[in-house]
Amino acid sequence: MPDVGCNAIKHGDRNAYQVNKCRCESARNEERIYRKRKRENRYTSPLVSSIGSMRRVRALNYMGWPGYIIAEEALGRRNLRGALISAMGGTVKRYTHDAIAAFYESHCMIMGPSSNARVTARKRGYAPPLAWDNIDDPKEKPSAAYTVRVNGDLDEAAVIRALSGDVPTKLTNREIAEVIRRDPDTPPIALSERTGIAVDTIQKHRRGIR
Ligand SMILES: [Zn+2]
Repeated sequence: MPDVGCNAIKHGDRNAYQVNKCRCESARNEERIYRKRKRENRYTSPLVSSIGSMRRVRALNYMGWPGYIIAEEALGRRNLRGALISAMGGTVKRYTHDAIAAFYESHCMIMGPSSNARVTARKRGYAPPLAWDNIDDPKEKPSAAYTVRVNGDLDEAAVIRALSGDVPTKLTNREIAEVIRRDPDTPPIALSERTGIAVDTIQKHRRGIR
């Protein structure tokens, strides 16, 4: 309830004080506390850079934690939209940052339940938790040792896409060998259907004939 005599559209907090010229007692109090903290250099902004939150969410995706689980368990929300401003260099509420960081601390070395999240994260080239030393440092680059490499005629992303059934335009011989090597258990016909690699090629590789 606004105080008697205050005709602002919004009431009660510092934002209303500044934007809507609210002069209710609660708004004046917030504004006074803000000015005092600012004067004493004790003021901490309720917003922080979103870069660490984005990296954490992506690294968690890499480990198989989908956004909706992070949203639910860390923030009590149904999804991350709205909580995270997706653009790098954006901002998030400090509460959101801290909640995601806490979830990350307890989950980043555990495999999550979603293979879809894992595959998508690799396809998009997201960096895993181990690639980061100082995940909140905007100058930090993910360590190349842990990120997906594009290496000569072996494109890691193409191999992973093929293994997940998302067949790239054309696999090189090295990529074909790698796909077969990484999936030793799927029957040849099923693997062929999933990856587009010929059945007899799969059988030859499995028998060690090249
Ligand atoms: Zn007011």
